[in-house]
Amino acid sequence: MSAMLQVRDLVAGYGQAVVLEHVDFTVKRGEVVAVVGANGAGKTTLLNTIAGVLQPFSGSITFDGTDITKTPAHALPKQGLVLVPEGGRLFPFMTVEENLEMGGFSRRKASDFADSLEEVMQLFPILKQRRAQFAGHLSGGERQMCAVARAVMSRPKMIMLDEPSVGLSPKMVGEVFSLVENLARTKGITVVLVEQNVQEALEVSDRAYVLDHGRFVRNGSSAELGGDPAIQAAYMGL
Ligand code: ATP
Repeated sequence: MSAMLQVRDLVAGYGQAVVLEHVDFTVKRGEVVAVVGANGAGKTTLLNTIAGVLQPFSGSITFDGTDITKTPAHALPKQGLVLVPEGGRLFPFMTVEENLEMGGFSRRKASDFADSLEEVMQLFPILKQRRAQFAGHLSGGERQMCAVARAVMSRPKMIMLDEPSVGLSPKMVGEVFSLVENLARTKGITVVLVEQNVQEALEVSDRAYVLDHGRFVRNGSSAELGGDPAIQAAYMGL
């Protein structure tokens, strides 16, 4: 299987501060890959660098065979790469449907857009009920689903989710994660999931990377990492 994303020898940070130190990271087509680690490990920095929000100091990023190391953030959704930032960043005074429209604006034809909207409403039935409400009035879980749905509207090849479980009840975390799994299994969308909620992230992903102080200290199948007593003790409170 060819790689959807290949990050090589990446060094990134802010100003003089190096956060990611020579990171290698590969995601295969159709996989759900989790990046887990403590607060401040550099997970958001990794996603923002891949998404073009931050320019790396050195290293390379290849997405679906194209070098995107220097591609600006706004150009990536057209290439099929979408970031769902922490908290979702919806437009609170726009309705659910209008928010979804914003995700589909790169679809050229109106009929494509209508098809995407229909498809997304089927995947996220709760949004169908809420379509005319302001996004700012949604519950935390619904907001997260709306943010993921908005990303799906652009028909991405790959979605990167930054801590989708933050602030959600355990039940909602389960629902959001099973939707994420569903996107990968039924739509063939490749998923990168960044999480501090290590146990659930390992349950929903195929493979995982453990980030610690800007370096990957472990990677492997999620089942194997989840069963490892050292990982359980360090990250799962077991
Ligand atoms: P969290 O879960 O808290 O978001 P994280 O693993 O995503 O943690 P990052 O947000 O990538 O970690 O932060 C990694 C390091 O970079 C931290 O030491 C943080 O203080 C620093 N950092 C993050 N954003 C900035 C910024 N805009 N300017 C300077 N330093 C930053």
